Amino acid sequence: VKERPEDRSRIMRAVKGHDTSAELLVRKIVKRLGYRRFGVNRRDLPGSPDLVFSRKRAVIFVHGCFWHGHRCKRGNRVPKQNRTYWIGKIARNKARDKVTRAALRLAGWDVLVIWECGLKRPSVINESIRNFLTKSSAPRDSSSRNGRRARREFSA
Ligand SMILES: [Zn+2]
Repeated sequence: VKERPEDRSRIMRAVKGHDTSAELLVRKIVKRLGYRRFGVNRRDLPGSPDLVFSRKRAVIFVHGCFWHGHRCKRGNRVPKQNRTYWIGKIARNKARDKVTRAALRLAGWDVLVIWECGLKRPSVINESIRNFLTKSSAPRDSSSRNGRRARREFSA
């Protein structure tokens, strides 16, 4: 029996946290801002960023507050059962996120993290995405050698 695409996407959601409602909402905001060409969950980049703007060399992560250890109400809510396990698990996630962001920046990518709790205020998210993507299209300074090289390659 061939698996139906909707089954697959449901499984993906459950397993990897892909295509969560938060991600879908951010994609919608991005499209409404006029950006229609972007990749999603690019596995060839560190951390499989949720949204990838190759030409701008910019990526957006949409982070769930619990899994990624946000310092907010939801992020601070650690389950009472297996408390030690969860604290360790989330600390590892946070450490991995940090390494991922550093790796991307080293490779000349601009990184924006959007927290799930922030989506309760869409206008704020709207504004930070707009600022981020506008800034990412500006010419790069000497702070990002890799980014400059990539830009040259692109324009060649
Ligand atoms: Zn949060």
